[in-house]
Amino acid sequence: KKSAGLEKYFAQQNLMVGRLKTGTPPRLAKETVNFEVMEKQQGEEKEVFMSYLEHKNPHPRQTCCHITKTNTKTHEIIRKNIEKSAMYSGLISGVGPRYCPSIEDKIMRFADKESHQIFVEPEGLETNWIYPNGISTSLPPEVQQEYIRSIKGFEEAEIMQQGYAVEYDYIDPRNLNKNLRLKNTTNLFLAGQINGTTGYEEAGAQGVVAGINAAQHAKREQPWVPTRQNSYMGVLVDDLTRFGVSEPYRMFTSRAEHRLLLRQDNADARLFTEAKNLGLINNERESAFLQKQQDKKTILTSLKQTKTKLNNETKTAEELCKRNDVKENEVKELIATNNKRFTEVYYDVRYSGYVDKQKRELAKMKNLEEHDLGLIFDYSEVVGLSGELVEKLNNNKPKNLHDASLMEGITPAALNVLTIHLKKIDAIRAN
Ligand SMILES: Cc1cc2nc3c(=O)[nH]c(=O)nc-3n(C[C@H](O)[C@H](O)[C@H](O)COP(=O)(O)OP(=O)(O)OC[C@H]3O[C@@H](n4cnc5c(N)ncnc54)[C@H](O)[C@@H]3O)c2cc1C
Repeated sequence: KKSAGLEKYFAQQNLMVGRLKTGTPPRLAKETVNFEVMEKQQGEEKEVFMSYLEHKNPHPRQTCCHITKTNTKTHEIIRKNIEKSAMYSGLISGVGPRYCPSIEDKIMRFADKESHQIFVEPEGLETNWIYPNGISTSLPPEVQQEYIRSIKGFEEAEIMQQGYAVEYDYIDPRNLNKNLRLKNTTNLFLAGQINGTTGYEEAGAQGVVAGINAAQHAKREQPWVPTRQNSYMGVLVDDLTRFGVSEPYRMFTSRAEHRLLLRQDNADARLFTEAKNLGLINNERESAFLQKQQDKKTILTSLKQTKTKLNNETKTAEELCKRNDVKENEVKELIATNNKRFTEVYYDVRYSGYVDKQKRELAKMKNLEEHDLGLIFDYSEVVGLSGELVEKLNNNKPKNLHDASLMEGITPAALNVLTIHLKKIDAIRAN
């Protein structure tokens, strides 16, 4: 059912800040694609589960993807027709996602490249639709047909559905509290691309946060806010509400400063207690979780107690987990376990030193305002910064490291790079 008047309300409150856009490629009929001439990309054989209630979701049959490329002929066709692209004619003017540009964007912005890679992905096990990932477009159908057929393996390809682009409004997410409630309302929670993000997971994660908080509000209970330390949801909500967005926001692991702690396989351990307090854990989930923790404890004890000789020195299996010359499987055999939780414990132990180091580095990052950045005139001279950060730092010209740390996308690793550069400048000046 349509919530009538919502758009008007946002407009009246002056919350809308702009337009963002996303596109999709034309879908192709599988039987018209020549896979023989493409490079094969095998599916994942290892059974990796997102949920530890894994029996509910058996690993699906795997099928393979392929790789092909655009070429100079493809680029010529697109360049010749660029004015017909909705995105270039000005019909669609929103800002697109930096990391999945349309094929028009790629060709115009990276004119020196003679080809762009395309992942040729089956859309599913039960369909004949193929998703050529990497060539999203808003060109007219006849141009799509022409450029598709210029690509190796697509010479005879039939288009099942044309590619297209979509433009949407978003509000400045700095108008939200960290529980995703609109600041000047008592009961309106926003999640998803209306907050300036793009992506299924980004929308889903915010839906969880906003949904929990809407329920908490209805029950007259305390809001729940995820933190940067306990989840990517926390990083996402904190980034959005603190920095706002200037382009569609994607949740990259590099945005988190605690990413060694934020592993997919330990999400349950990080969030179980809070989820239980919120009434979100049923008995089945709880007993699966407790069993898993018990298994992990048993494995860790075994790692600590099992000893072996390595280069004439006695080592515990726990110590071997941290060595590069001993493989995961060798440690597993040594403690004679078949427990499927072994890998998680192995990585807990293996990364423990780095996790401690990360905590120490974070502690060192105090007094940031004392580090003056005024002597850096062009950030492209700073070795180790990504192109995106160079662009943002050159545009913003922060006064000191503290100002830089408040900018969207600046990670502790980037602050480290800047600190090293400042030390170099100091050394040069001292000479
Ligand atoms: C062409 C295209 C390709 C994409 N490809 C990918 C991809 O490969 N991977 C990826 O991760 N992401 C992709 N995205 C992005 C992703 O689809 C979106 O970011 C995500 O689905 C947004 O989810 P949402 O719930 O915020 O919004 P939506 O999915 O748009 O849901 C909003 C819902 O609200 C309804 N609605 C609107 N107004 C009202 C109203 N007044 N009353 C009641 N209901 C209303 C709408 O009908 C809609 O159902 C793509 C997007 C597009 C457009």
